[in-house]
Amino acid sequence: MVGALDSRTETLAGLLREAERAVVLTGAGISVPSGIPDFRSPGTGMWEGVDPMEVAHIDAWRRDPDRFWRFYGARFASLVDKRPNRAHEVVAELERSGRIRGVITQNIDRLHRAAGSERLLEIHGSIESSVCPQCRGRTGIEQVVTLLASGDGAPECPACIAPLKPDVVLFGELLPADVMSEAEQLALEADLMICIGSSLTVHPAAGLPQLTLRSGGSLAIVTESATPLDDQAAVKLTGDVVAELDAVELALSS
Ligand code: ZN
Repeated sequence: MVGALDSRTETLAGLLREAERAVVLTGAGISVPSGIPDFRSPGTGMWEGVDPMEVAHIDAWRRDPDRFWRFYGARFASLVDKRPNRAHEVVAELERSGRIRGVITQNIDRLHRAAGSERLLEIHGSIESSVCPQCRGRTGIEQVVTLLASGDGAPECPACIAPLKPDVVLFGELLPADVMSEAEQLALEADLMICIGSSLTVHPAAGLPQLTLRSGGSLAIVTESATPLDDQAAVKLTGDVVAELDAVELALSS
C-alpha cells in the first residue's frame, strides 16, 4: 500500500516537473487542518443546526442586516486568528519556485495570502474587507471585528452609517466577473490543474477543471472524498492533505 501511495506521489511530482502552465484550485479541505471546518460536512461547529444557504444568503443580509451579522459576525471572529497550515505553505512554495502560475480558491479565509501565495484568485471573495452598499467604501477586517465587538448588530460604514456587507460572495450572489474571468483563462491555458481539498461539486468553480481537460490539460486531485471528476484525473491522492503535499514537495526536491 505504501508503495502504491509513493507511486501516486511520484506521478504528481512528475506532472509538475513537466508542466509549463500549471495552476492550483483549492476548496475547504485545505483549510480543515487550520481548524476551519468544512460546513458541507454535517455537524461541524457553528454551522451545526443552521442552513448555510439560508443564514449566509444575500436575502438574509438585505432583509435584516443586524440579524445576519449576529450569525456572520461569529464566522468572522472564528476565522480572524486562523493560521495557514503546511499545505498552504507548499502551494505558496510551488508558486515561488515557478512550478505553478497561480492559485484559484473557493475559500474566503485569507490563508493562501498569509502563506505567501501572490497570484491568488479568490472567486468567493474574502473576509479581508467589508463593503458599504452606498459609497462602495471598504472597511478592513480588524475594524469590522472591533465594530462587531462593540455593537449588537451590523457593523456600519464609518462615512454613511449604512450596514456593511462582507466582501464574500453570499449564496444568491454572482461571483465577481473579473476574478472569475481570470480564473477561467488560467484554467483554459493550464496544462495541469491540481485540485486540492475540493469536492468539485459547487459550480461554477467545479467547471474550471473541465475547462482544463477540454483544452487538453491534465487533472490531478488531492482530496479525501470522491469527486465527479475522479475517473478523468491523471492521478488522485486521497490521504491527509498536509501529508500528501509534504510528500509531493519532498519528491520534487529529491
Ligand atoms: Zn459608506
